[in-house]
Formats: sequence, C-alpha cells, structure tokens
Amino acid sequence: MRCFKLIKKYKKQIFFATLMLVLLCVVSYFIYHNFSTSTISCTLNREYENYKTQIVVHFNKDNTLSIEETFETGDNAILKTKRIEATLLEYDYSVLKNKIIVKHNQTYSKDEKEMVKEYVESGYSCTNEETVDKNIEYNLSNYSTYQEVGTPYEEVEINAFSDDKDLREKVLIDNNNFDPEVAGIYVVTYRMSLSDVRDEYLYRVIHVEDTTPPTLKLKGQEEITLKKGDKYTEEGVDVSDNYDKEIKNKVETEGEVDTSKLGEYEIVYEVTDSAGNTSTVSRKVKVTSKGGIIPEIKTENGITYVNGTLIANKQYSLPENYAPGLRDDVYNAFKTLQQDAKKQKYSIEILSGYRSYSYQEKLYNDYVKKYGKEKADTFSAQPGHSEHQSGLALDVGKLDESYGNTNEGKWLAANAYKYGFIIRYPKGKENITGYAYEPWHIRYLGKELAQKVYKSGLTLEEYFGIEE
Ligand SMILES: [Zn+2]
Repeated sequence: MRCFKLIKKYKKQIFFATLMLVLLCVVSYFIYHNFSTSTISCTLNREYENYKTQIVVHFNKDNTLSIEETFETGDNAILKTKRIEATLLEYDYSVLKNKIIVKHNQTYSKDEKEMVKEYVESGYSCTNEETVDKNIEYNLSNYSTYQEVGTPYEEVEINAFSDDKDLREKVLIDNNNFDPEVAGIYVVTYRMSLSDVRDEYLYRVIHVEDTTPPTLKLKGQEEITLKKGDKYTEEGVDVSDNYDKEIKNKVETEGEVDTSKLGEYEIVYEVTDSAGNTSTVSRKVKVTSKGGIIPEIKTENGITYVNGTLIANKQYSLPENYAPGLRDDVYNAFKTLQQDAKKQKYSIEILSGYRSYSYQEKLYNDYVKKYGKEKADTFSAQPGHSEHQSGLALDVGKLDESYGNTNEGKWLAANAYKYGFIIRYPKGKENITGYAYEPWHIRYLGKELAQKVYKSGLTLEEYFGIEE
C-alpha cells in the first residue's frame, strides 16, 4: 500500500524518468547504428624486395569497407608510382618520408560473413578467425635495371607461384609508360591476382640512361705546323651525340694561336651532353721560325745558346772572361776546306780567327775614333758581341765586298757548308744580321746544321727565329 502511495505521489517524476530512459536508449541505438564501426577487421602484411606493405580492411555496418594501405619503400620512383596510382583512383593519400598511406572506402553486396571468409581464404588475418596460410612465391630476377637510352625493352625473369600453382602466365605487366628513347627512371608493375580481394604487386625500376659521350672529331689536322706570320684558320670540330640533338653549340674551345709568337699551342675542344658525359679532343699548332724551328734560348755562364748552338750577335753577347781561343774542331774543319779549295786552285788563308774581348774592345774603339760610332757599328762588333770571341768564326780570303764576286769567293759561299761553315753576313740581309755583307766571314755550325741553314737560304737569326 505504501508502495502504491509512493507511486501515486511521484507519478509524474516516474513517468518522466521512464520516458528519458527510453529516449536515451533510442538515441544510443541511433548513434551506435550510424556512427560506430564493427569490430571486424582484416590485416595483410607483405614484404617484398623493394617495398613493405600493410593492408587493413575494416568492415562497417553499412556494407562498406574502409581499406587502408601503408606502403613503405626506399625507392622514390616506386613511391611516385603509388602516388600517381592513388591520384588516378581518386583515393585519399598522405605521403610521409618513405611511406604513403592510401585510404578508400568500398561497398560490398555480399553477406558480411561471406566477405570475411573471402579475406581469410585469401590469406588475411581477420578478427576472431583462424588464419589460412598462403604459400606464395613471387619475385623477379632483377628489381633495378639499367639500360642505355635507345635500347629496346627487355623483360626480366618472373617467378609467380601460389600454393605451387604456376601463375606466371597470369602476371599482368604494365610497362605502358616506358619509353626507351627518353632518359629517365621508369617503374614497371607486375600484378598477380590471387583472388577478388588480393592482388600482389612487384615493382621493377628501370633506369634509362645516356652514358655515351658525344662524338667529337677534329676538322682538319691534329697537328699543324705554321711558319711565323702565317695565318691560322680555326677549322673547328664535328660533333654529334646519341641523345642530345642540340649539341653543336655546346662545344667549348680553349686556347688561341698567336702566329706572331713562336711556340707550341694547344687548342682544346670540349663538349658535355645533357647527361654530363664529356668528350675532349685537342689540336697542336706549332708556330716555327722560317727555318722550322721553335727556338729554345738558354743562357749558361752568360753565354747564349739557341737549341744548343752558341749565338753571339748584336742582341746576344759573350761575357768578358769567355776566352776559348780558336777551337780545334773549327780549325781542322777549315783545314779540310782549305785543302779541297786548293784542288780547285784556290788558296784561302785565315785573316783573322779568335779575338779576345779586350782585343775586340780596342779594335772597336779605334774604328769608332776613325769612322764614328754609327758607321763602325755596321762592320765592327762591340766588345762581347763579336763572333770572333766565340772561337767559331773566321775571316778568310780577302776583306773586301768584291771577294763575293770572285770565283774563289763564289766557291767558298757554295761549298763552305760541306765543311760545317756558313757565310754569316750575307748580301741583302743587313737589316737582319745588323752587319754589312761580309763574304769573308764564315761561322762554324757543324756539318749538319750548316747544311740546313745553307739550304734554307736564311740567315742564322731567321733560321732560328731570333731576329729582332
Ligand atoms: Zn769576321
């Protein structure tokens, strides 16, 4: 009775409380039904040569699946391929350093249990289900291949077995993006379908590279010899490349030829293609004296040698203390000349041989007193500059310009080289030697060099290229 009384007393409150409870239940169910996911999920972990993947499938109440794949690879090209794939499929994705997480939802029409069974049979581990082991052997003989640009596509060996079933014929190869003519990094995808809910992928990265350097060929000769003052014409190079079409204007030329300066020049041609392959060729250009010589001038104890030959002239002097006397080989060579001249009935005598520095000094100063400096300089050497001090020069026959017109003088001029001598100050070369014509002054050079200089028709200065 008390009970009823109490109910009666709190009738309103009880009614509201019950109503609230029912309402709470309805709202809870509504929330549960619409917003909660089921507790069923299936997971598949796979690890391949160049990537790792985890696929998690959540079963939702509304017959949809939330599928999330975490794909991990150290290869940027593969990561990029996955990203492009996700974009094309319009899946949500986020990229981390070497990972991509791809999410999408999928509806299914089958019964949930049947669906879970399908995942389990495909090798996924699902909530509250016993896992079925799948024995899968899926690999390539090579995952990262390199090939030269322009070489055709070549397949690698594929292994594809599932529970000893040979699936090699069923592997779908996607190499549609591959272009062997364009350098770059390509990814070829190998898809092996195991069931409606499980596909296995392999990725092969193909590096198409240009490792062939451009072909660089000299136009004209590799070695060119020019005489001083000749014109150098730059003929350039022919260039081509297996890959770069616009390679012609990439050739860089280094070096210049100055034909007014004797020496050896090198012109270097270099070209680098867009892949960084470099080719170099070079050309040697020699600018020689009129005698074909590149002079090497050395000074030893104050004595100047050009390519080993002692030089004493207006430009190069001998030191005061250089006093070799007339050299034996010079004297002997002259003796032979003299004997042979005798056979022609010419009697050629030495008028002046070796002269010391001090003797030349006295001689020169006397000439200057007598004729003045300007005139004296045309026929007499200043001390130190006389060839006579070298012990290699002789005045023979007659100290007269007309001596050159005599038969003896002509014979001397035409035959001296055979004995190792040259007429040192020829006619018409006064501006080069600095001396008036002296048909009597012979200089010993040795047979070999004397012949070369004589045959060249040049003065010793021109022959060596040391004329001022
Ligand atoms: Zn002389």
